[in-house]
Amino acid sequence: MAIDGPAGSGKTTVSRALAERLAVDRLDTGAMYRAVTWLALARGVDLTDGPALGLLARRGCLEVGERVVADGTDVTAAIRSPEVSASVSLVAAHPEVRAVLVERQRRWVSERSGAVVEGRDIGSVVLPDADVKVYLDAAPEERARRRADERAAGVARRDELDRGRAASPLAVAEGARVIDTTGRAVGDIVEEIVGWLTTTR
Ligand code: C5P
Repeated sequence: MAIDGPAGSGKTTVSRALAERLAVDRLDTGAMYRAVTWLALARGVDLTDGPALGLLARRGCLEVGERVVADGTDVTAAIRSPEVSASVSLVAAHPEVRAVLVERQRRWVSERSGAVVEGRDIGSVVLPDADVKVYLDAAPEERARRRADERAAGVARRDELDRGRAASPLAVAEGARVIDTTGRAVGDIVEEIVGWLTTTR
């Protein structure tokens, strides 16, 4: 199942609850882009150098689960830092980085019989044949409130970069169902999505 949407749309909360409800694994692809960004900042790699960042991603050993580990360092908290949040969209815009991470995401999915994958390009690029594609959105004030850890201007800039980039921009994928999560209960949204899954099977 593909869950896409901008920052603060409720992807993480909904995909966690959905994975739990269906007893399947969940992959947070944003954490993968954040981990590569953390590695780039830690090693002083030029954030405009696509080929160097692609190489860094390819050579980097990433574990993304409840904890996020990059080349042996637990970066679970560090990847949510303001420095990483401010740079991740620049790193994620490079096709060289995306090619490496998309390949790993598809491999992760192929090793499972079902899963929930959240990100920006899951329904459009990573898993265009997903059983259910969902695009979550919410009112701008609500999204800013949910991302209280990040300044509103930073969230807006990240969304703008994610929507405007040439490589796999954030957009509603073909066949995706759009849900406005503003003011809605998580359980209610999860049941709506589960209902779609049973009707598409
Ligand atoms: O989901 P999260 O907000 O943690 O994602 C951080 C950033 O990673 C996004 O702003 C975007 O630049 C990038 N990203 C992406 N494609 C994905 C997931 C995340 O480009 N599938």
